[in-house]
Amino acid sequence: MVKKIGCIVFVLILLAGCNKKPEERTIFAMDTVMSISAYTNQQVIQMAVDKIYELESYFNANSEDSILACLNRDKKINANNDVLQLIAFSKEIAQKTQGAFDPTIYPLVKEWGFISKDYKIPDEDKINTLLKYVDYNSIAIENNEISLANENTELDLGAVAKGYTSQQVVDLLREQGVTSGIISLGGNVYALGTKPDGEKWKVGIQNPDNDDYAGVIQVADKAVITSGGYQRFFRENGVTYHHILDTATGYPANSGLKSVTIVSHDGALADGLSTAVYVMGYDKAVKLWKNSDNFDMILIDDENKIYVTKNIADDFIMENGTFSIIE
Ligand code: AMP
Ligand code: MG
Repeated sequence: MVKKIGCIVFVLILLAGCNKKPEERTIFAMDTVMSISAYTNQQVIQMAVDKIYELESYFNANSEDSILACLNRDKKINANNDVLQLIAFSKEIAQKTQGAFDPTIYPLVKEWGFISKDYKIPDEDKINTLLKYVDYNSIAIENNEISLANENTELDLGAVAKGYTSQQVVDLLREQGVTSGIISLGGNVYALGTKPDGEKWKVGIQNPDNDDYAGVIQVADKAVITSGGYQRFFRENGVTYHHILDTATGYPANSGLKSVTIVSHDGALADGLSTAVYVMGYDKAVKLWKNSDNFDMILIDDENKIYVTKNIADDFIMENGTFSIIE
């Protein structure tokens, strides 16, 4: 019997020190609770909310009439700019991470029941069959046409859509002259500017074992996005199966990391990489980080050891315990 367990997303945002009141809005979109808090007016907040609903109508693979669902069904579409951008970007991240992140994972994610929430462990033959369709090279992009080479190929943008959306919302707010705010899309946080008093925003990183937090990262103008098996999983016969799949095996990733937080100016990159690094594990992640200059990481491994890359180490605060710095 499969026991269903819901998804708990945890974000602690410390707003202490603000005298002025921000405008706030909480909505349910992309299967999660989203909140916008920014020093602006309700009209601008409404524009941001409209943008979120617009992007949801493009990227939700599990809704019959979304653009992504049309692509998965018809294998060819003329895409709008957002869809083109995000799919091209997803292919790029897949290449950069040697397929640890792969948007063509959708048939497997469905088979495990992570879309329907009717969870099950697929039999091995089924996993091996579906693994054959996981290949980002089967996505072709020409001008504004996107096509999928194989009739069984289907895309899942769940690992990048919220980060991309947070970036689009922040870009919109910036265009409207907003310089301070916090966007939290189901735990995917973007800290716009600084607090009105000029201090950095403080974003809590959840302890993967409980509802407490492992530490706090202080940021300005950055996305802080965490992936972890604890965010969505089910248990069967005492074994836990979570929602981030290893594209090499078709089973939940087991790389030695419990939680991966990516800190970056680029929300879509932070989201894509948080999923990829969770699959890749510590050694490959550090190698990728050393060869890049556009993200930082907070990693928590299976022994609860915490590692923080050197560029953000001074901004990472822990009340109890220690962490190692990745140099
Ligand atoms: P995130 O919470 O951003 O790490 O995204 C997790 C979601 O991405 C899952 O619920 C799946 O829909 C999808 N997913 C799972 N494994 C992968 C993978 N290896 N590459 C890309 N997307 C994945
Ligand atoms: Mg992600």
